[in-house]
Amino acid sequence: MKLLKEQYVCKRCGYNIIGGYYPESCPFCGVSHENFITAEECSQKYSIVSSKINNKIDRLNSYPKLGFEHSAYCIKIKGKNIWIDCPSTFSKDLEPMDKILFTHPHFLGASNLYRAYYTTFIWIHKKDSELPIASKHPFDKKFEHDFKLEGIEAHIINGHTPGFTFYIFEDVLFICDYFFLREENLILNPYGPAHSTMDGVKRIKEIVKKQNIETVCGYNYVMDYKNWNKKLVSLKNESFATKL
Ligand SMILES: [Zn+2]
Ligand SMILES: [Zn+2]
Repeated sequence: MKLLKEQYVCKRCGYNIIGGYYPESCPFCGVSHENFITAEECSQKYSIVSSKINNKIDRLNSYPKLGFEHSAYCIKIKGKNIWIDCPSTFSKDLEPMDKILFTHPHFLGASNLYRAYYTTFIWIHKKDSELPIASKHPFDKKFEHDFKLEGIEAHIINGHTPGFTFYIFEDVLFICDYFFLREENLILNPYGPAHSTMDGVKRIKEIVKKQNIETVCGYNYVMDYKNWNKKLVSLKNESFATKL
């Protein structure tokens, strides 16, 4: 694949710099370009490991850990695979995925390479597709409203990013990096407007209390819902993480 040679991966954060250009510094984390490897080298040095969440959902990670290593999730529905978010590493060893649904554009990973290789359709909120960090990435559907797809519910809450969307499938909630886990507490992601991030928390609480959630899948943790919800209830307003 020609694309693999033209694309760089930042080893500090995992962001894929696509579109055949070589910037001085990473558009996502700002580190200088000595920290980049090509997507081809990335595929040689890293693989994707999969671990089971339940009999329909697998967690996907780059191995060894790559950058700010984040998890993506694969939901198996009626013989199809639908991903929530995408790993930074491209691998040809996976089962084809029908769609990649994004929570927001911070972990687009190697989605353009998966799209080209497996003929995958990529969905993201329209406003998030317009952010500079996403401007070179291809998307097939730019949604603007909540939707339901093959049993997956998409809830747009805004906040951390203008189109931040979380997903629920059966008894599993996919919340990505809206919250960080710090020691025993949940704290809010500081990279977004404070007021609307806190409004988003209210919406999350309203929506999840009507559901029978058992498991919460975050960008770097998987947790029992009861335990997670205790942390959510005790989350204080203005409890934001410090920026890097
Ligand atoms: Zn970076
Ligand atoms: Zn984010």
